[in-house]
Amino acid sequence: MQYISTRGGRLGSYCDILVEGLAPDGGLAVPEELPQLTAAVLEQWRPLDYADLATEVIGLFATDIPRDDLSRLCHAAYRPEAFASQEVVPLHALDDGITLVGLSEGPTLAFKDMAMRFLGEALDFVLGQSGEVLNILGATSGDTGSAAEYALRGRDRLSVFMLSPQGRMSIFQRAQMYSLLDDNVHNIVVDGTFDDCQRLVKRIAEDGAFKREHRIGAVNSINFGRISAQIAYYIWAWLRITDALPEAERTGFEVSFAVPSGNFGNILSGHYARSMGLPVRKLVLATNENNVLDDFFRSGHYRPRPAARTFVTSSPSMDVSRASNLERFVFDLLGRSAEQTAAAWQELDARDEFDLTSELDRFGAEFGIVSGTSTHADRLATIRAVSERCGVTLDPHTADGVKVAREHIEPGVPMLVLETAKPQKFPETIAEALGSVPNADAATRELLAAPQRVTTIADDEEALRAIISELALR
Ligand SMILES: *Cc1c(COP(=O)(O)O)cnc(C)c1O
Repeated sequence: MQYISTRGGRLGSYCDILVEGLAPDGGLAVPEELPQLTAAVLEQWRPLDYADLATEVIGLFATDIPRDDLSRLCHAAYRPEAFASQEVVPLHALDDGITLVGLSEGPTLAFKDMAMRFLGEALDFVLGQSGEVLNILGATSGDTGSAAEYALRGRDRLSVFMLSPQGRMSIFQRAQMYSLLDDNVHNIVVDGTFDDCQRLVKRIAEDGAFKREHRIGAVNSINFGRISAQIAYYIWAWLRITDALPEAERTGFEVSFAVPSGNFGNILSGHYARSMGLPVRKLVLATNENNVLDDFFRSGHYRPRPAARTFVTSSPSMDVSRASNLERFVFDLLGRSAEQTAAAWQELDARDEFDLTSELDRFGAEFGIVSGTSTHADRLATIRAVSERCGVTLDPHTADGVKVAREHIEPGVPMLVLETAKPQKFPETIAEALGSVPNADAATRELLAAPQRVTTIADDEEALRAIISELALR
């Protein structure tokens, strides 16, 4: 399988694109063509456990990783012992035909573990082959940073420098990251906002000479390795729902997925699964108050808000205005025309918006994507209602998914809501919804009490360069 850029360039194989960010032409890596699944293949995969299914699915994309090696990497990433559930991804029925897909059973209690654990193994493998080292530089407002650090901690060929904004994350999220004392994990707290952190990372990423000298890479949400790994759980969820049907009814049985969305990475994997032939009726995109994507899918107009006008909400991992993966969907929407895709992003650069209203009819009809917005009040009401009716505590992001999912339920079509985090990560909002702070379990108490280590810097590029120069693996 070869990869191309959404702006037209040729990029090479899976392992070639695994450590790259943006393509040299400014586009994103996509497979030259999408593999296709048949009903027979899906039935062959039915008996597989999660690690074996992931091997099959990722194997369609990572054709340059020998199958035995890939199987070993997937078994390491998806060891049941690393997850709270033996099944790795358990399904849990709520009411009204809604089922939660448990993607947050991993060590950092968010769905980011699902892709990041695989990526950690895959990067280690690729570096082992080439004998190189890599220093991962990133910025986080919460879940990505901790998932990356847990996936990379203790590895010889990889280190991670993760910037986070002073005082903006939940107490739990801070403890999760800052309590990692591994030599190859560097938590850097910036006296500034998340955008300031991102700006610092971008400055370094644009300095090709410094990047090469210090072997700097990224594992951010445009990484195709992450996108490919996420496709596996859409297929897993479809298989588990159809397990309950008589065999004769399984073929082509449609389900819908609702996805709490920010950077459009998770739902993009759903779009690929559907395009590969998985029987998916609707992909329901849920946003919070930062509803740029809802606006786009309803109007065909893409109008990202400037960072300064992006709201700080109680589902913070969705506080995104410029969804970095949207370009991959638009590329498909425009018939995989690199020329038209480049033109849309040129327009975006020039006018801060683009207009695809001419394609609006196809969003739902051809691609199955519908959307909706959930606000703070919706989030609290949903957490409360699901707790009362089903005895399940939702995290704020998953609550956004459930709220919007309810607006798109169709009789006879199971609605699968992706559980993107566990409620323990966001005790402040859960307390506001349920009127009391849930009792912390033993693991949480231990985590909150553990010693923490961070380096605090001003919003200053030179200070960051100095730390990287001193501590980067070489
Ligand atoms: C990252 C994240 C999201 C958004 O996922 P995208 O792939 O960026 O759309 C939603 N919820 C939680 C809890 C997250 O960590």
